[in-house]
Amino acid sequence: MKINLENLTIRQAHEDLKMGAYTAVELTQAYLDVIAKKNNEINAYLEVFEDALQQASQADEMIKSGNATLFTGIPFAVKDNILIKGRTASASSKMLSNYTATYDASVIAKLKECGVVFLGRTNMDEFAMGGSTENSAFGPTKNPHDISCVPGGSSGGSAAAVSMGGALAALGSDTGGSIRQPASLCGVVGLKPTYGSVSRHGLMAMGSSLDQIGPFGKTVEDVRAIFNVIKGADSMDSTSVPLHLRGKDEVIKTKMVIGVPEDFLTMEGIDADVLQNFRETLSKLEGKGHVIKKVTLPNLKYSLASYYIIMPAESSTNLARFDGVRYGLSIKGDTLFDDYAKTRGSGFGKEVRRRIMLGAYVLSAGYYDAYYNKATAVRALIQKDFNEAFSGVDVIATPTSPTPAFKIGEKANDPLAMYLADIFTVPINLAGVPAISVPSGFGERDGNKLPLGFQIIAPHFKEERLFSLGADIENL
Ligand code: GLN
Repeated sequence: MKINLENLTIRQAHEDLKMGAYTAVELTQAYLDVIAKKNNEINAYLEVFEDALQQASQADEMIKSGNATLFTGIPFAVKDNILIKGRTASASSKMLSNYTATYDASVIAKLKECGVVFLGRTNMDEFAMGGSTENSAFGPTKNPHDISCVPGGSSGGSAAAVSMGGALAALGSDTGGSIRQPASLCGVVGLKPTYGSVSRHGLMAMGSSLDQIGPFGKTVEDVRAIFNVIKGADSMDSTSVPLHLRGKDEVIKTKMVIGVPEDFLTMEGIDADVLQNFRETLSKLEGKGHVIKKVTLPNLKYSLASYYIIMPAESSTNLARFDGVRYGLSIKGDTLFDDYAKTRGSGFGKEVRRRIMLGAYVLSAGYYDAYYNKATAVRALIQKDFNEAFSGVDVIATPTSPTPAFKIGEKANDPLAMYLADIFTVPINLAGVPAISVPSGFGERDGNKLPLGFQIIAPHFKEERLFSLGADIENL
């Protein structure tokens, strides 16, 4: 039987599986067929798991025995920096190309319990450092909407897998935009949850005070459902926030006050059609009864400067563990120091080495106060800006990315241009608040229609507001 994957959602697939319209094995096979057809060109997956159909047949057993959850038999793709026991986890780095995970990340354990089928692991910028997936040691991923363009990054493989119809949903990680920006560029929905709401246990650390795991899906409702299973406190992650400290459930207003940081939108580097699409979406929301209000977040303009100090500082510390002794690649030199230099020099790619050097520099004794301390002080101001802004609005909105998908190679040799692509996503990680990217239309480049995304930001633990307004955008 031919399964129509095009408009399939998790809820619909669940109903179909329960009714016996098709089996989990058939559903998984349908996705494997798409992958077989498209992955050579798109390179969304680094590996397709050989036992996917076996996992699906176990899911069928669960369904038959009446124990199906919403996720039983649902085919997922997983970013290559999230550990699945017994499987390779390379973070798209030569350093870890032969590394086998020894335990399940907490989010994976939860999804396994629900009977999810893991189709494979997806390509990414090496150690999640980048915004285009070009920094992978295993070749770039291509945007399914235009194969001459990047899918965004660093979770470009996960976004492309869902966008090309090669998975119903996917997991990614977001340190400065790595879920939302590729979601925007590939025309899918992506959520960066509140810092501390989803366990980071089993996620390879990049910037530990910024990293969060989150979902990709075709609809806001799918993303919401995934968030609801992966969230929760975890004794294995001391930064995961206990449930009683997450605030009470609130009644979600059907008409919201949407804050717009106008001065942040008039900066250079934002494409005119991106801005136009953003404003059109806002006015349609206004037409539906939402209220638009100007907000000022005066320190947001320092976000990139602050992020590109804090993130490399934390990354350089986290990546110190790759010493050729404990994990992954090991190259023998003449001395112990030579071992380190050879292993790290050939195991890490250029961007990773750049960030390790930046991080080591800003943390060094002579510069710690001037850079790292200053950046954390600025971060506190950015957090304060958000707190103040949220006292007068329910959510804040911006475009997700200042441009649609750019060409492969266009920014590869210009790290500063690449960093500017994170302008709207980075402040959210610094503040620790949640944000979602929802498709809001298309921009045209060289006769091709490229997806645009609308970012909604909420106060800590108020993800439900994102889902409610996000669903309104889907129905505009
Ligand atoms: N593009 C950003 C960076 O290069 C974001 C990365 C991420 O969120 N993992 O750091």
